[in-house]
Formats: sequence, C-alpha cells, structure tokens
Amino acid sequence: MTTLAEYPKIAAGKVRELYAVGDEHLLLVTSDRISAYDFVLDTPIPDKGRVLTAMSVFWFEQLADLLPNHLVAYDDPRIPAEVRGRALLVRRLEMLPVEAVARGYLTGSGFSDYTATGSVCGVELPAGLVESSRLPEPIFTPASKADLGEHDENVTFEHVAEKIGKKRAEEVRDATLAIYRRGAELAAERGILLADTKFEFGRDNDGNLVLADEVLTPDSSRYWPSEGYQAGHSQPSFDKQYVRDWLTSPASGWDRESNTQPPPLPDEVALATRGRYVEAYERITGRSLADWPA
Ligand code: ATP
Ligand code: MG
Repeated sequence: MTTLAEYPKIAAGKVRELYAVGDEHLLLVTSDRISAYDFVLDTPIPDKGRVLTAMSVFWFEQLADLLPNHLVAYDDPRIPAEVRGRALLVRRLEMLPVEAVARGYLTGSGFSDYTATGSVCGVELPAGLVESSRLPEPIFTPASKADLGEHDENVTFEHVAEKIGKKRAEEVRDATLAIYRRGAELAAERGILLADTKFEFGRDNDGNLVLADEVLTPDSSRYWPSEGYQAGHSQPSFDKQYVRDWLTSPASGWDRESNTQPPPLPDEVALATRGRYVEAYERITGRSLADWPA
C-alpha cells in the first residue's frame, strides 16, 4: 500500500498539492479548501476535492478528441488511499508559462479592462457592453502566471508569442477556444453558462501540446446558472454564492475592507456550499458523485 509520505512534495498552492511520482509522473492532490475574496477559508467544504477531481476527469474524457491530456489514472495502486478520489496521477510536463483564458462573457478583470480601455488583452470589443454581457464570440485573453500571492496579469497575444513563439502561441489560442466552445456547449445543454475559464498546457518529450492541470472545474471557471441570467450586473456564482453572501452579510461580522482572515463558516453554509458543488458536478456530467471513488 502506498502512502502520501512516500512521495516528495514539490509544490503547494492555495488549494492543491503536488507530489513527484518517480521522474515522469506527478500526483495532483486537491484538498477541500475553498477560497473566497482571495482568502483561503478556515472551513473546508466536504467533498470539494472529489468533485473537482471527478469533474476534471469527466472533461478530459470529453475533450480527448481535441488534444492529448496529462491524465494517467485516477484510481490506481500508486494513488494512496488517504487521497483516493481527490488525486490524479498525471504525466509530468514542461509547463508553458501562460494562463490560457477563454471568455464568452464579460466579467472580472475582463470587464475592468474593457471599462478602462475598450479592449481585453489587446482584443478590441464593441462599444456598449456591460457587466456580464455575452461577447459576440469567445475570445482568448491570456494572462502571465503571477508569483505566489500575486494576481495574474492580463497580457496580449503578442506578448505570449514573444515568450513561447508564434506557432506555439497560435496553437495554445486555438486549443483554448476550441475547448471553451465544447465546454460551453455542453454546459448550456444542462442549463449552465460557462462565462470564462482558464487552462494550462504543457509540452511532452516529443514537443506535443498537452492539456494539463485541472480542467473546467468550478475553481478554474466561472459557471453561472442560465436561469435568471441577465447582463448589467454581476451574476451569482453557481458554487460559491452561499459563501460570498454569508461573508458579506452582517451575520458573519466580517468586514471585507479590513483585509483580515474571514471567520469560520457555519455548518449550514459549508453544507449548502457542498450541495452546490455536488449539484454542479452531477448536472454538468450527468454522473453521480456516489459512483466516484472515496
Ligand atoms: P493557486 O491555484 O493556488 O493559485 P497554483 O496554480 O500555482 O496556485 P496549484 O493549482 O495548487 O498551484 O498547483 C498546480 C501546479 O501544478 C501549477 O503550478 C501547474 O502549472 C502545475 N501542473 C499541473 N499539471 C502539471 C503537469 N502535468 N506537469 C507539471 N506541472 C503541472
Ligand atoms: Mg492553480
């Protein structure tokens, strides 16, 4: 039986940990931690790590005809029992230094940039768009990967081309938009809008572009319920809305402006949030979380 302690930990992000499995593989472990307003909360969301892991696997399967991905196994003797269901064994790749973002709707930093300049990442957009507007067509809005604690910075296509070469940049852009379209189409059939999403790509030893990291999870994407969608204001997030609403309500006693660690979540908020993650998974994939390894 393998244990996690056998594998050298090589990185820890806000939500995930990365372990080396030999020279060629990694174990990508997703915790139940949740972040909101740039803080990692003290209260975990039960099963969140399983949901995100199961969802990535679903999407790797759905997208396999578009391009290769890094997934090797999700249920395998090399995956320790203690992280079963929330860990992926993946091929270790040379990651490209770009956050490959696709947007179908205008929100977040995309909306801020548009308000300031009329364009996002050098892509000019029509006048008159508002918060959450649907874009005429999906756009590629790359960002540079920021250091820990910093925000990713939006960059132009030309900037990416300078960094990784024009050919590779075009390949990343085209893959990003193709995957976004596929994801948005499937989500729409299930009553969910995929507002935007971020991918990470790597290259394998033969130089092939490979889809890596997590894919189309609620942590890497903005999913909105189609029902009630209306441009002109921000949309409720499918998964984190209970958390955000509670944190900004008088009940939490937390002042967002204070820049201090938010208080722990009440059980009912944590459980309601769990319910939303599970619902997102089950609605989008048509699968039951009960069937996923635990
Ligand atoms: P955070 O998500 O907290 O902002 P992060 O994105 O740097 O931080 P994580 O998401 O916790 O960190 O960790 C995933 C890390 O693993 C990322 O740096 C990602 O680029 C890297 N990664 C994902 N898949 C692979 C792979 N197949 N080979 C090598 N590195 C990978
Ligand atoms: Mg990450």
